[in-house]
Amino acid sequence: MQRKDFNVAIVGGGMCGLACAIGLTRGGINVQVFEAASKFDEIGAGVGLGPNALRALEGLDLLDVVLQKANEKRPNQRLFCFVTVGGNHEKIYDYYESTSGEDTDGLGIYRPAFLEALMPLLDPTITQFNKRAVSVEKLESGRHLLHFPDNSTYEADLIIGADGIKSTTRSAVIGKGASPLGFSNTHAYRGLVPIETLKAAGVKTDVKRPHNWVGMGQHIITFPIRDDTILNIVAFNRPVPNTISEELPHPWVESVDQKELLDAYKGCGSEVCAILQHMKNPSRWSIHTLYPPLDSYVKDRVVLIGDAAHGMLPHLGAGVGQGFEDVYTLCRLLSHPGTNKSTLDAAIAVYNELRPPRANMVLQRSIDMGNIYDNYGPGGYTVQGMRERLRGMWEPVWNHDLEAQVTTAIGELERKNVAEKN
Ligand SMILES: Cc1cc2nc3c(=O)[nH]c(=O)nc-3n(C[C@H](O)[C@H](O)[C@H](O)COP(=O)(O)OP(=O)(O)OC[C@H]3O[C@@H](n4cnc5c(N)ncnc54)[C@H](O)[C@@H]3O)c2cc1C
Repeated sequence: MQRKDFNVAIVGGGMCGLACAIGLTRGGINVQVFEAASKFDEIGAGVGLGPNALRALEGLDLLDVVLQKANEKRPNQRLFCFVTVGGNHEKIYDYYESTSGEDTDGLGIYRPAFLEALMPLLDPTITQFNKRAVSVEKLESGRHLLHFPDNSTYEADLIIGADGIKSTTRSAVIGKGASPLGFSNTHAYRGLVPIETLKAAGVKTDVKRPHNWVGMGQHIITFPIRDDTILNIVAFNRPVPNTISEELPHPWVESVDQKELLDAYKGCGSEVCAILQHMKNPSRWSIHTLYPPLDSYVKDRVVLIGDAAHGMLPHLGAGVGQGFEDVYTLCRLLSHPGTNKSTLDAAIAVYNELRPPRANMVLQRSIDMGNIYDNYGPGGYTVQGMRERLRGMWEPVWNHDLEAQVTTAIGELERKNVAEKN
């Protein structure tokens, strides 16, 4: 394969940065990854991947290794069953019964297992740890310089900001001082519990099926990971409904006493109480989103991907899937034989045409979805009202033919490049 005549610096080695580094390296591109932490690391929690996320991973030729680490031979249906958080956990809606025909297969995976699956595919010499980028400077040559706290720098033709929702590189795209983050007035308590433990404690619900336990001002997502042996639990609590307020100044993730969690869900139904009793050491996350969404993910030769571009609320389980769609799109465009130093701007302009409209649609939907989940009960939606709002919420996220979209865009780019040469 012909090596490209441009180099790329990726800031951030999370799920998106790592996938991007592998994809670009395979495309013959000289890549360096700068990660703030001392190693690739993910919190010990699960992540749900929808059909579109899996197609993007397949397009990147990463799906098989991920399935191996997830202990799954193939993806499976991950359609949620919605039940009430209180009372006898009456069934409100079953997504399984409402969808037909389309691809609905997904995957629940332990986050560290995802990184473990990808790490062997990455050349270790291209990653530098303990390297927190503090700023990006545009040079007269059009190239960019990354600055680090130890006064070291790195110069690249293209900077990819994969540095998460609190991104530093984003200010090179939207300008310094702009603060696009909002607090959703929601706390999420996260934990993992062996499914056998819950069975022994008398939990009768088939928790191997993903569940969403909904109520007024709160909902709990549960789904199995690690070959259906562990239950991933995310319990959302939102005392102030439907608002997004200013970013919180204190740390977003804190360890809390289990009592805080149990108090927040006091009076819930017996199954929920039994599950939460086994979440011994919950962490509490203050859930933020980028709001309003960014019009553009690109400025000059700085490109944002993943949460740096569109950090959204977790209510659709779609954040990292949108990041993988970014990575697939960017890898196809940058690896294309027609992309070189002189055509780089045209390639990233295509990325910026394709990605913001779609990822921002999903971001807005993630906000809408949270408002639906947290409004079941007296003064809020009825069962019928919930059903009407939930119907079809995931389909636009899942049923998107990314490969066809990118192939069409590349075809247009090729024609434009030929026309410009003649
Ligand atoms: C409670 C909760 C549940 C969720 N559940 C789901 C789900 O089920 N499905 C789903 O698709 N999504 C889910 N998400 C969203 C998902 O976690 C994110 O979309 C995803 O982790 C984003 O990946 P990323 O690689 O873009 O960013 P990150 O995972 O945030 O990675 C960023 C990396 O950049 C590094 N970094 C940061 N700043 C710098 C810097 N200045 N210099 C160098 N390195 C830097 C960080 O150390 C980190 O390694 C959930 C989110 C939350 C909060």
